[in-house]
Amino acid sequence: MELIKFDSPELHQFCNHCGESVEFGTGRFVNRIPDLNNTETRIANNLTFPLGDFLCEECDSNPQT
Ligand SMILES: [Zn+2]
Repeated sequence: MELIKFDSPELHQFCNHCGESVEFGTGRFVNRIPDLNNTETRIANNLTFPLGDFLCEECDSNPQT
């Protein structure tokens, strides 16, 4: 199992719900929400893209979709 460092500078800049990029310039950058859970927790929560370190505003507003 890969160790995930909390202070890792290499963030995975995509939404862990829909997989859309939230990098600067995508239009999702401003309203992205950092997901503070670790990858194992995200997998346990059945997220589709557990490696993503963020949640986009759209998925945060519509958690069931
Ligand atoms: Zn999303």
